[in-house]
Amino acid sequence: MAGKLVCSIVTLVMALCMAACASGGAIPYTEDPPTARDIDGLYSRLDRAVAPQSFIKAQDLGEVVYGNFKAPVRLYSIFNRSGFKYRVFLSGGIHGNEPGGVETLARFIEYLARNPALYGNVSFEIVPLTNPWGWAHDVRYNRDGIDINRDLAPQRSQEARIIAGYLKESRYDLMIDDHEDPSASGFYIYQYAMPSQDLSRKVIAAVRAGGLPIEQNVNMVILKTDDGLIDAPMWGLWYMRATNQIGVPNYSRLYNSDNVYTVETSTRLDYEDRLAVHQKARQIILDRLTAK
Ligand SMILES: [Zn+2]
Repeated sequence: MAGKLVCSIVTLVMALCMAACASGGAIPYTEDPPTARDIDGLYSRLDRAVAPQSFIKAQDLGEVVYGNFKAPVRLYSIFNRSGFKYRVFLSGGIHGNEPGGVETLARFIEYLARNPALYGNVSFEIVPLTNPWGWAHDVRYNRDGIDINRDLAPQRSQEARIIAGYLKESRYDLMIDDHEDPSASGFYIYQYAMPSQDLSRKVIAAVRAGGLPIEQNVNMVILKTDDGLIDAPMWGLWYMRATNQIGVPNYSRLYNSDNVYTVETSTRLDYEDRLAVHQKARQIILDRLTAK
């Protein structure tokens, strides 16, 4: 019995080590991989969308610089339309080879810009692209080979310093980090030290009802989702903090919010289907928040 318990704890700790996609780092890149995506195009598109609306402000939190490569980490703040009640932070693109997270947030910014009356009691702070170099080159890591989503504690990377510097001492009613998983075959969601699985189960049920697969095994046999849900306990977050492995959601749950989720879609599935899943998950979680 004791052996089984220890085994369960070891399994859970290893699962947490893998939280939010696969883990590890890479050696620093000595040459840039081919350019896969256009950062200026993305920001120009968003700037055009938000320009007519005075309730959306774009602000550069910092600039990521590698030699001749320079790109901002840009925040879009959508606020104070009727005196907001809830403060929400949304982020994506910390892993550059997970394009759905960036695109779903870009579309959500455009959607809010076109529909000023929506979520009028919510103040959104949205960072669609946390790792611009990685996204531009379709690479998970930054140019130094650092997995930024393991770097929020040591903050060796420029990108982690930028995002942690912004989040510092802020409190949010909800935070969602959008990811994708090249190794997974279906949808899954992380929640962090939450009192109930009810809302995550509702999101999973909605994805299943839409006909898309729910992840049962994330990447490795040892990291088992429970029918699409990884439910991280608080002691596991502190373990990750103590071992210098926390990413944005873990950091956020410890320091910024009691209500944090990571949404994961499989990059093996149709792109538009993945984007629909991110949108659906966000909508269900936001609806629960704003119904309070
Ligand atoms: Zn990821």
